[in-house]
Amino acid sequence: MHIIPTQDEVVAIPRETGALRDGHFQYPSGLHSNEYLQVPLAMRYFQYQKTLSVGLSRLLRANSEIRAMIKDLSVVTPMTGGLPVAYGVTEALRAKQVYWAEREHDGEPLHFRQYLEQHPGEQVVLVDDILRTGKKLKEMKKLLEARGATVVGLAVVIYQPTPDTFNFGNLPLYYLAKLEASYYADAEHCDLCRQGLPLEKVWI
Ligand SMILES: [Zn+2]
Repeated sequence: MHIIPTQDEVVAIPRETGALRDGHFQYPSGLHSNEYLQVPLAMRYFQYQKTLSVGLSRLLRANSEIRAMIKDLSVVTPMTGGLPVAYGVTEALRAKQVYWAEREHDGEPLHFRQYLEQHPGEQVVLVDDILRTGKKLKEMKKLLEARGATVVGLAVVIYQPTPDTFNFGNLPLYYLAKLEASYYADAEHCDLCRQGLPLEKVWI
């Protein structure tokens, strides 16, 4: 294993732990895909959690601007898949603090715990296990900025872009591996449906 694990070394971890599956899947959004990834299944194994979050922290540390702000840096994640990544990155970087936003019910906005307040100009790295549509990270970024913080970078274990992935512009994006799955808008446009492959519905 390299100091910063290679794409192949990273992808081997979710494959081995059942976190990355090949098949025919339907996402809650209606998209069909040939690949499904649940990083938390890999994060069950402490050594893998360590390898992945330390690797990600090294990518962040290589950015001299981020390196210069580490002692004041906040690492923030949306619930819940990002938690083991955020704690691992914070520990490896020795960043100042780590916290998360959450929502109790679908459809309500992400929020922080009562009394958790950003200090003016707080510098934040947003962390998650995966960047797929970017919807949650976009919401987090808006929420943090509305509360006076500055988001200085995004870091995810795996980047799995879809046709609708949100564009974060110039914001530095760090990831350990990129997966190029095939996506189909719906059953009618899906090659896998056409081949008659059994379809599995996934929750998240
Ligand atoms: Zn299909």
